[in-house]
Amino acid sequence: MSADSVVPGRSLRVAVVGAGPGGLYTAGALCMQKDVAVEVDVLDRLPAPFGLLRYGVAPDHLKMKSLATGLQKVLDDPRVRLFGDVRVGDNLSVAELRECYDAVVYAIGAATDRRLGIPGEDLPGSTSATAFVNWYSGHPDQTVSGVELDCSAAAVLGLGNVAVDVVRILIRSIDELRPTDMPDEVLDVLAASKVTDVHVIGRRGPADAKWTSKEFREICELTGVDVVVNPDDVELDEAAEAKVAGDKNLARSVALLKECAQRPLTGAPRRIHFHFFAPPTEILGADRVEGIRAGKGEHERTLEVGLVLRSVGYLGVELTGVPFDASTGTIPTDSGGRVLRDGAVSGGEYVAGWARRGPTGVIGTNRPDGELVSASLRADAAGLVLRPAPDPAALHDLLGSRGVPIVDLSGWAKIDAAEVARGAAQGRPRAKLSTYSQLRSAARAEV
Ligand code: NAP
Repeated sequence: MSADSVVPGRSLRVAVVGAGPGGLYTAGALCMQKDVAVEVDVLDRLPAPFGLLRYGVAPDHLKMKSLATGLQKVLDDPRVRLFGDVRVGDNLSVAELRECYDAVVYAIGAATDRRLGIPGEDLPGSTSATAFVNWYSGHPDQTVSGVELDCSAAAVLGLGNVAVDVVRILIRSIDELRPTDMPDEVLDVLAASKVTDVHVIGRRGPADAKWTSKEFREICELTGVDVVVNPDDVELDEAAEAKVAGDKNLARSVALLKECAQRPLTGAPRRIHFHFFAPPTEILGADRVEGIRAGKGEHERTLEVGLVLRSVGYLGVELTGVPFDASTGTIPTDSGGRVLRDGAVSGGEYVAGWARRGPTGVIGTNRPDGELVSASLRADAAGLVLRPAPDPAALHDLLGSRGVPIVDLSGWAKIDAAEVARGAAQGRPRAKLSTYSQLRSAARAEV
């Protein structure tokens, strides 16, 4: 089938909401379709693209960060346009967006965090890992203002990869963190950190940990850090043994934990302590965090900590005008990523990434996700309700009439260049700009 037979005389015009891995892998897959000509406009509420790759992947995971090169290639495709710093649901409605395009893909991720629902959760010093990750990633919405790591002990709740990331950033030596892209002010706080002990607290046992063994191994092998594991915790019962036997990744993590439990402590200056079977029950303190209580019965313990980072999973946020399943934090879809409205497929609306499948998987998981949505759109193309007079200037005109300035590809190129130049001056690959005003002025700078 030729492109013309799908959409006579013109390209299929698609909007992708979200310039993170979910959105950009979808845009890339759409451009790869051989028999459908497409034009893809990618909108993002932030001035800088790449979503969780820029604002979630840990700054010391340089190999993973390098996936940005592939995403940049998608943005550089002449059929793709970037509309950064544009908030769908605020600067324009979903209904207005749909008017301008033949199809819309929502790839809005999972922007908030799950709650624990325990006393003390909102005390100063108790913070979601999402907010902490935003802070060290230089996210312009970062909500941890005035972070001070002025306590000697911190607790990280949860046994996932995000917990592993925040433990590493908290406990790693500053010399190992300096070559990263973290904003200058974040490096200053980390350099002054007094944290020597991090307690990792899991509500279940080693056989239920969600982290991947490769990531877990990293925190067990940090220079200058002892790992403290209670040998009783790694004695698995029959059910746990069976679970571990059937899962290579888990088996590697558990073997490593067992090895750590046997390791003599070396008197290293910093320590990671693991606490299993210890659901957090209360965060303690009068005006700010002073401790945490976790575990029940023989497993109950109270730890003195001045900081609690709750790393118990991300959660999707509703986009006005799009159906939302609050129980999963996702947009309901069929198996091909087509939006379901009142249980029926809504023509021309799709979902990719965490907004579809929930906060699971790694960055690369979004590639097949994008291919899935692209294939669905291709299969549906002939039956789409096409916009009568699709005008490539329509979105620009609408946003212009509302005085919404856009950070386009050239604006992003200027932000990128400014960050790389700041980094070069300090001998690191990049030093991130972290506020809206810094990002916007860099995007509009005369060069
Ligand atoms: P996650 O893997 O779902 O882990 C969440 C952790 O929180 C689990 O240990 C869970 O325990 C615990 N938890 C949930 N509710 C709890 C509660 N009420 N009380 C106590 N503990 C609770 O989520 P994540 O760490 O946020 O990671 C999200 C996704 O990003 C994952 O797919 C992860 O692999 C990925 N990621 C990957 C990397 C990487 O590859 N380097 C880095 C970061 C993130 P239960 O099992 O008991 O529910």
